[in-house]
Amino acid sequence: MALRFIAGMLALAALTQVSVPRVPQPAQVSILVYHRFGSMVSDSMTVRTSTFRWQLQYLRERRYTVIPLRVLVDSLLHQSPLPAHSVVITADDGHESVFTDMLPAARENAVPVTLFIYPSAISNASYAMTWAQLDALRETGLFDIQSHTYWHPNFTVEKRRLTAAAYRAFATEQFCHSKDVLQKKLGVPTDLLAWPFGIHDNELEDLARGCGYVAAFTLDRRGTGLGANLMALPRFLMTDSAVGTSFASMLSPEGTQ
Ligand SMILES: [Zn+2]
Repeated sequence: MALRFIAGMLALAALTQVSVPRVPQPAQVSILVYHRFGSMVSDSMTVRTSTFRWQLQYLRERRYTVIPLRVLVDSLLHQSPLPAHSVVITADDGHESVFTDMLPAARENAVPVTLFIYPSAISNASYAMTWAQLDALRETGLFDIQSHTYWHPNFTVEKRRLTAAAYRAFATEQFCHSKDVLQKKLGVPTDLLAWPFGIHDNELEDLARGCGYVAAFTLDRRGTGLGANLMALPRFLMTDSAVGTSFASMLSPEGTQ
């Protein structure tokens, strides 16, 4: 009886395998995340503008297609096809050098960029862009502006500091208020989130979903594809040493064919 049951299950499994249409898995897509640009490497988060331009040239020569992050998210949500050899470029924190250095290079190469901004810094912190600069970026048609929470907290620290209820209220405020301010100031729909310091867990993912986010991004340093957790999509943290084989190792090899 047991043997017949097992044989039946095996037959069913074989049948299922044959009858279910195969969904082609798109290639892994790399999402790159930048922070600051400059003529010199003043800290580990600064990529020289000349390095960024070298990377864009490398992508162009190897026939990669830089696609908007939104296109990748839609593809993961709806299993829609992507251009061959797709790569995504993002930049976190709203540093002024995004406007002065990244914008001209992005414009010359016609590459789309998604910025993750924490609104408390905008038109406020000395290193940050102004709302007028963000508006100008948005008007180029190349820059999408999304949320990096309201003031970039360290959720691990806040969880230790607050009661469970206060922590949940705090995190919700960080997610929802950021989204509301960005939508009001820039008139753009905001439903993508970059986790500050890459910190996230199931509880934070649920709270962010509750504020209307459909995808969120970490610093997990690998490619992404179908089947990935949309609330924890990995990105490669870009440093000035990402040239040559180091940069190539962050990309799917298909572009070189
Ligand atoms: Zn950040």
